[in-house]
Amino acid sequence: MPDMTPNPFADVDSKPGSAKPDPIIVADGIVRQFGGLTAVDVKHFEAQRHAITALIGPNGAGKSTFFNLLTGFDSANAGTATFNDMKLDSMSSANVARAGMVRTFQLTKALNRMSVMENMRLGAQHQSGENMLTAMLSPLWSKREKEVTAQAEVLLERFKLLDKQDDYAGSLSGGQRKLLEMARALMSKPSMIMLDEPMAGVNPALTESLLDHIVGLKEEGVTVLFVEHDMHMVRRISDWVVVMSEGKIIAEGDPHEVMANQDVQDAYLGNHHDTDLFEERE
Ligand code: ADP
Ligand code: MG
Repeated sequence: MPDMTPNPFADVDSKPGSAKPDPIIVADGIVRQFGGLTAVDVKHFEAQRHAITALIGPNGAGKSTFFNLLTGFDSANAGTATFNDMKLDSMSSANVARAGMVRTFQLTKALNRMSVMENMRLGAQHQSGENMLTAMLSPLWSKREKEVTAQAEVLLERFKLLDKQDDYAGSLSGGQRKLLEMARALMSKPSMIMLDEPMAGVNPALTESLLDHIVGLKEEGVTVLFVEHDMHMVRRISDWVVVMSEGKIIAEGDPHEVMANQDVQDAYLGNHHDTDLFEERE
């Protein structure tokens, strides 16, 4: 059956900072400087609820820094942002997560030495907002723990990692680690998930399944914002693309429109990027 859902972007202007019909994130005048370097200088940004938005741009464009600012892992020098109409400014990363916006993290050394299931349990921590130790001493702990384990099993099954639950996270392949990062983030039942380069280091055999998972999240009503280098992936799954260069948003639009944009191509070429990035490959 053809997809009859009306396109929420049908009336959205293809220009930097364009207003969306139902934004979940709204940011204004966000500036982040590191010494003399202005890493982020975003005049206005909106992300549409229930859509998949890709944030692209050459290396050093400020994408990760912008992500860190939105998720409370870094503080801006200026600007304001809201998530679901809640002010994000000065909200801690834990409170941002509790409010329903989570981001994936690369597995660190410490997490590598924990099992897949232990990693999943850690992902649930934000959910109730309780301190882990207090929680463990509570009479409700064992009930809560059972719920967390059951929820983790459902997610691990979905991400085809259930038979690895007792393995060290460090023993997983690159692609499986990406799946675990995503599964772990979902333990807090977020309404929005932020993915920084979800396809990096993933072999072709697993990229399809990762793409399906991201589209699946959207179908469940989760809003997705992701940073990605691979334009083929961006083209396949994003509803809307926002392009950053030198800290600023320089273009927005649907994937095909953005990739045909000369300013966008120039920004990449100026960065000695792969010139074949923008060619259609089917
Ligand atoms: P992207 O994710 O688009 O590749 P980043 O946000 O990582 O870009 O970086 C944007 C710019 O800010 C780069 O020039 C980078 O070197 C600089 N930068 C990022 N984080 C820091 C930091 N903690 N200290 C100093 N400079 C930083
Ligand atoms: Mg980055």
